Amino acid sequence: MNTPEPKAAATEPPARILYPSCPLCESRRHEAAGQFDCTGHALYKPGLPTHMTWRRCEDCHHVFTDGYFNESALELLFSDTNPNQQPGAGAEQNRWTWAKVVAKVAGYKREGLWMDVGFGNGSLLFTADEWGFGTNGLDLRRTSVEQMRTYGFDAECAPLGDLEGPRRFDIISMFDALEHMPFPGQELRHAHRLLAKDGLLVLSMPNSDCTPWKIMDTQGLNPYWAELEHYHNFSRRRLYSLLEQHDFLPMEYGVSDRYRLSMEVIARKV
Ligand SMILES: [Zn+2]
Repeated sequence: MNTPEPKAAATEPPARILYPSCPLCESRRHEAAGQFDCTGHALYKPGLPTHMTWRRCEDCHHVFTDGYFNESALELLFSDTNPNQQPGAGAEQNRWTWAKVVAKVAGYKREGLWMDVGFGNGSLLFTADEWGFGTNGLDLRRTSVEQMRTYGFDAECAPLGDLEGPRRFDIISMFDALEHMPFPGQELRHAHRLLAKDGLLVLSMPNSDCTPWKIMDTQGLNPYWAELEHYHNFSRRRLYSLLEQHDFLPMEYGVSDRYRLSMEVIARKV
């Protein structure tokens, strides 16, 4: 008879699991890129590490935190939801914002099934639905998934990699999501597998290479060094090379008007 192994996650304190190597290119050559106090962040809770320590890969120049949260840290972090992240929050205002994004995507693909990874307040899916897209959403906050279903939307509480079976999507969006994921390359692999032929991947995240980023750095006003839920600071150049490595062709670059210093990229599966 097998004795079940004790679960390590139940007793380990909230902490970061350190990256032994660059999470994008696996180089073991990385150097210090600053340390910032994150206790002032709106989602910070006592018990979480008080500082974020950043590293820069000496080979691919990617900038990343020294580690990603273990299960007990994530449990603590996800124990409540920011009110403006709950499905339905700011629905009228957000509709105006997302309409521009959906219209841009519809310029490449007029119909099909749209999967939004990390749907947050749900407004992107509400708007895509208006354009006639089929919709599906993933979010790791269970209460958000339940709330989304009450509006009649298909939603699941799972990471993208857990989706199996023959279902394929015409559009997969990850707005402000990839920088939250410990290993972004893995997510791109999952997205590639789950997209139909010529499917679109739509991404947004802060662009660490834009001049306003550098200006805010010199002023000590750049919020992203203490952004508790982020593990990565992507430059446009590094994002594009990662996309190309995973067989995506970047088609359009744009600037997000929803988040500070952010870029929006539409890429096609090749
Ligand atoms: Zn690297």
